[in-house]
Amino acid sequence: MRRILRREKSGYALGLIFCLVGLFLLAVVSWKAWQDATVSQHVSSDLWSYLWTEQFDFAFGVGFKLIHFTILGAAIFLLGAVIMALSRKWFTLSGETVLLTCPYCKNHWRASRAKGWAECPHCRQFIQPQVTKAH
Ligand SMILES: [Zn+2]
Repeated sequence: MRRILRREKSGYALGLIFCLVGLFLLAVVSWKAWQDATVSQHVSSDLWSYLWTEQFDFAFGVGFKLIHFTILGAAIFLLGAVIMALSRKWFTLSGETVLLTCPYCKNHWRASRAKGWAECPHCRQFIQPQVTKAH
């Protein structure tokens, strides 16, 4: 049970990282577009052709058009959102635990679900645990 929970948390973290990377790429594109928009008027009038023509030139001579960044950023963001949504679903499915109370020693412990009969992990009595709190 514990191992499954951890994997779902890392899935959630992975989704979050994808979302942030996607947002970062989109932010870079908007920042570049905003910078060029301040010097030339044609950007705001024709953003679509601007995205196709304008490109980043890297030091090693490879250029990426802004449209590639836009599509990549949106795709990564959507992928991250899907991973996060799936991770959250799995998390709530298996993360449901109840707090059980022993009627003899009054100690609490967590279980994946309410049980009719169980052995108390504290006093080792075979008891009918009371459900204190459901999560
Ligand atoms: Zn007990």
